[in-house]
Amino acid sequence: MVTGPSRASEKCVFCDIVARRSPAWIIYEDEGTMAFLDIFPFTRGHLLVIPKHHGARLTDLPFEQQTALVRSLDEVCRRVERLTDDYNVALNAGARAGQIVFHVHFHVIPRYGESNPFRATSRPPLTELEARTLVAELAGD
Ligand code: 5GP
Ligand code: ZN
Repeated sequence: MVTGPSRASEKCVFCDIVARRSPAWIIYEDEGTMAFLDIFPFTRGHLLVIPKHHGARLTDLPFEQQTALVRSLDEVCRRVERLTDDYNVALNAGARAGQIVFHVHFHVIPRYGESNPFRATSRPPLTELEARTLVAELAGD
């Protein structure tokens, strides 16, 4: 069973992706987790890894879901290593830590030698062409 936010009035963009109400460029999915391309990537191949059950932050998840999430994070990191050996894994918990989407997610941010991408003044949206190329590179075994 996949749970959404606790109140119907609390719309959650990531629950909408899990439920296929909103589109996403998915590169990995299993029973309890999913990984897809960030629509405003810091770098090429910026990914988000989420549990299918709604929880605002890691400490809201039961242990089994935390474990499943980290296993998927490992799988996604291995796939990102197809692009580059260097990447950041980040988790923002709480508004003052930069959390904007309150459905727990790990960022996996490939690095190619650029200077601090986290301070980018603009984050151009992911293009369909780039997304298609990345899905071909990252989805599948
Ligand atoms: P946070 O700041 O909450 O850790 O990061 C949320 C991330 O989700 C941001 O990097 C943002 O670009 C991404 N994001 C927000 N809405 C959507 C969406 O509807 N689809 C996708 N694929 N990414 C999203
Ligand atoms: Zn959610």
